[in-house]
Amino acid sequence: MLRVLLSIAILITVASPVASQDTTGAAAAPDPVARLVARLDLERYKATLKGLTQFGDRRQGTARNRAAVDWIEQQLRSYGCSDVSRLTYEFQPPPPRTPGQGPAGGGGMGRDTSRAAGGGRYRGIRARTGVNTDSLRQPDAKLRALDAEASTPGQRQEVYCTKVGATHPNEMYIVGGHMDGIGWGEAANDDGSGTALVMELARIFSAPDVTTDRSIRFALWNNEETGLNGARAYVEQRQALQGKENPPGSGKYPEPTWLGMIQHDMMMFDHGMPRADGTLSPEQRPEADVNIEFQSSSKFAEAAQRLAWVFHVANEKYATDYPASVGPHMTNTDSAPFQDLVAAISLRENERGTQIGAGWDPNWHQPTDRYSTYSDKDFRLGLNAAQTTLAALAGLVGATLK
Ligand SMILES: [Zn+2]
Repeated sequence: MLRVLLSIAILITVASPVASQDTTGAAAAPDPVARLVARLDLERYKATLKGLTQFGDRRQGTARNRAAVDWIEQQLRSYGCSDVSRLTYEFQPPPPRTPGQGPAGGGGMGRDTSRAAGGGRYRGIRARTGVNTDSLRQPDAKLRALDAEASTPGQRQEVYCTKVGATHPNEMYIVGGHMDGIGWGEAANDDGSGTALVMELARIFSAPDVTTDRSIRFALWNNEETGLNGARAYVEQRQALQGKENPPGSGKYPEPTWLGMIQHDMMMFDHGMPRADGTLSPEQRPEADVNIEFQSSSKFAEAAQRLAWVFHVANEKYATDYPASVGPHMTNTDSAPFQDLVAAISLRENERGTQIGAGWDPNWHQPTDRYSTYSDKDFRLGLNAAQTTLAALAGLVGATLK
């Protein structure tokens, strides 16, 4: 592992001979990664996120969800992102569970309550979590009306676009966030924050002066909240197409071979552990971090772990405010359907199992998950995750700037 880390560090050093702090303009060849990261901007990230919240909670199977997919597609086209496409699939919700049956009931008989989803262990104080299903808990009548239409089973779509690699168009990293939400709010953090991050990266990598050796696919998954159904549909429909040139001899690869999958889900809120009375600090904690998780029980755990450390190195070098932490318990997110097929990681505000699952985010699936709930310190954690992924990807795909 150490040897791998060292070679990664050497690679990054060799690829970027000029220190990133050199912004005097006197250097002959400024670090292209630093220049790309500098194109991320807090106000732009916030504006993209705010644009998503105009569609309320974007619940799957509703007109507001479809309008959000249309809007995302328009934005991707306006960035000049290549091959904007839609994946179409069917979604039929499972029949309602009978109480006491099934593993997803949240604490059935004999369950070890010290163990969190994904394999971690709870420590310290835990607060209540759950999904709000009561419209009347949304005090804003306008938003309540916007979120009112219920989901209808049937056809679904999700949108993606691609930065096509100049020398290896047949290989790609997939970068994802889920655009659907629940809870009678605006799904601003879950997962407007991850969706906006992926869209901002699509914008920056699609700029005409940016070239990459390998491809990057930017995917805005639908139906995450119903059980990762959009990401699962993508894997089912496209897994077998990997690396195939189509039409033969065209140089086009509709599904480049997967090199890794990087998911972004809930990027902004790290106010720490709940206090003994169940309340939380109103302010982002200064020691907030970006949590990079892989799943140690997955088939590609070794490769996923290596990928996670590449992101850690990128964060240390390029993220402006907040550090990153690596953990082994990735769970409940759209990278899970990929984890036994390719190196898969997720980036989050907190560990999903032991922290978010222990009530560290009081807005999770609640009416309070609104744009206006968050301060610039929260938005900035999301921006730091964007800097981390942008920098790591730029190195992985061999990005250069004219
Ligand atoms: Zn989510």
